[in-house]
Amino acid sequence: MTMPTLMWFRRDLRLHDNPALNMAIANAADEGDNQVVALFVIDPEVFDEAGQPLKAYQNASLTSLNKSLGGNLLIQYGDPLKVVPEIAKNIGTKFVHIAEDFEPYGRQRDIAVEKELAKINISLTRTGSPYAVAPLRVTKDDGTAYRVFTPFYRSWFKHGWRKPAQLPKTLPNWYLPIKSQPLPEVNAVIPIPEAGEENALNLFEIFMKNAINNYDEHRNRPDLAGTSKLSIALRFGEIHPRTLLINLNDTKDQETFRKEICWREFYAEVLANAPESETKSLDQKWELMGWDQEADYLNRLKIWQEGKTGFPIVDAGMRQLKESGWMHNRVRMIVASFLVKDLHIHWRHGAQWFMKHLLDGDIASNSHGWQWTAGCGTDASPYYRIFNPMMQAEKFDPQANYVRTWIPELRHLTGISAHTPWDQTDGYLHGYPERMLDHSEERDETLRRYKASKGEKDIKERFAQ
Ligand SMILES: Cc1cc2nc3c(=O)[nH]c(=O)nc-3n(C[C@H](O)[C@H](O)[C@H](O)COP(=O)(O)OP(=O)(O)OC[C@H]3O[C@@H](n4cnc5c(N)ncnc54)[C@H](O)[C@@H]3O)c2cc1C
Repeated sequence: MTMPTLMWFRRDLRLHDNPALNMAIANAADEGDNQVVALFVIDPEVFDEAGQPLKAYQNASLTSLNKSLGGNLLIQYGDPLKVVPEIAKNIGTKFVHIAEDFEPYGRQRDIAVEKELAKINISLTRTGSPYAVAPLRVTKDDGTAYRVFTPFYRSWFKHGWRKPAQLPKTLPNWYLPIKSQPLPEVNAVIPIPEAGEENALNLFEIFMKNAINNYDEHRNRPDLAGTSKLSIALRFGEIHPRTLLINLNDTKDQETFRKEICWREFYAEVLANAPESETKSLDQKWELMGWDQEADYLNRLKIWQEGKTGFPIVDAGMRQLKESGWMHNRVRMIVASFLVKDLHIHWRHGAQWFMKHLLDGDIASNSHGWQWTAGCGTDASPYYRIFNPMMQAEKFDPQANYVRTWIPELRHLTGISAHTPWDQTDGYLHGYPERMLDHSEERDETLRRYKASKGEKDIKERFAQ
C-alpha cells in the first residue's frame, strides 16, 4: 500500500533551500506514490499572543506559500498535539517531517508531538533548522556554550555550513486530503509589506545591488536605506540564511553583513542554552536591579510606547515601529536604552511591546537585543554605557531626515534643528511634547541604582519585583 508523506511547515514558509521539505519529497518518492501533504497549523497558544501586524503578515506569507503549492496548503486550527497526529493518522502516513525549532515553546511542543505520534507508530523527522548552523552545535573547546559573540563568530565561521539545498526538479503531487480552513480574519492596523519567498529573494537581490557596498558604514544610519530589511523574511523562513551566506565574499562590507547574520544565530544559541532568558536577565544579578514598580511606571511606559517622550530620535523610532512594524537597529538600541536607563523600567516590558508590534518579532533576537542594551545579557554593553539620545541622533541622523519622516510636528524645523526643538523659538509650534525628563539626572540615577544593586545586601527586598 502506498502512502503520502506529511510535511509540517512552521517557520520555513518557502520551497527552496528547505532540507525538511526535500526530505519529505524524497520520502514520498521512496514510498512510491509521490504524494506530499503540506500542513500549517495555526496554534492558538502562539497565534492569540501575537500582535496584529505579525498575524497579518503570516496570512500574506501563507497565501504566497499556498500559491507556490498550487493551492494545496492545508491550513488547520488547533493544538498541534492533536491536529498533527490526527492528520497523519487520517492520511495513513508513517512519516512527519519538520525543520527543527529551537525556541523554548517550539522545542517542548515538538517533543510532545513526537511522543503522541510514536503512540500510533508514526515518526517525526527533524531536518535542518532556521539557521545556517543549528544551535547547540558550536561549543567552546571544553564543551560549554559561548556567551561572548566574537569567539562564537570565529567558531561558527570555522564550523561552516552546507550549501543551500536544491529543490528537486521533479516536484511531488501536493495532496490535499481534506478542505483547508480559511485564514483568520485579521485587522492589519498597518500597511503590510509584500510577503513570500519570491519577494524575499528580490529583496536580497536589491540589497546586494544597491546597499551592500556601503553596508559597513550605512547600516547605522536610520535615515538611509542601508540595510537589507530581510529580518521579516528570515523570521518567517521565507528565505534561509544559507542562501544569503553563499553569496557573500570577504570584503569588509560583506564580512560585516555576515557578522550580523551571525548575531541572529548567536542569540538563538544563547536562548537554546538558557530558555529562561526569554523573559529573565541572563545575568541574574540584574533581576535585583532597582527597576521601578508598575504603579509608578505605567504612565511613563505609555508615553514611551506612543512616541511622546519629547526626545525626537526616541519618538521617531517608536512611531516607526507602531506605524510600519519595523524599526532600524540603531534606533532599537536608542529606544531600549531610554526605557531601561532613563525610565528605569525592566527590559521585559519593552521586549513585550516590541513583540506586539514588530513584523520580525523573534524571541531570541528580541530578548537578547534588549538584554544587550540593558547590560544584563551576553557580551553586554556594560552597565555604565548609557546612550545619550541627543548625541546618538546627531551622529546617526545627521540631517534629522529620519526624525522629520516620522514626526510630523517637527517637519517645519530645518536641518539638524529638528533634533533640538527645545533650542528653537518655534520648536513646539505644532504640538510636539516637551521632554519628559532630564537625561543627565536619569543617567546619574541609573548609575546610583546599579551601584546599589551590586553592593547592598538588602537589595533583594528593596528592589525585587
Ligand atoms: C532591542 C532590540 C530588539 C530587537 N528585536 C529583534 C527581533 O525581534 N527580530 C529580529 O529579527 N531582530 C531584532 N533585533 C535585531 C536587529 O535590530 C534587526 O534584526 C534588524 O534591524 C533587522 O533589519 P535588517 O533586516 O535590515 O538588518 P540587516 O542589517 O540587513 O541585517 C541582516 C540580518 O542580520 C540579522 N541581524 C542584524 N542585526 C542583528 C542583531 N543586532 N541581532 C540579531 N540579528 C541581527 C537579522 O536577521 C537581519 O535581517 C533587535 C535589536 C535590538 C537592539
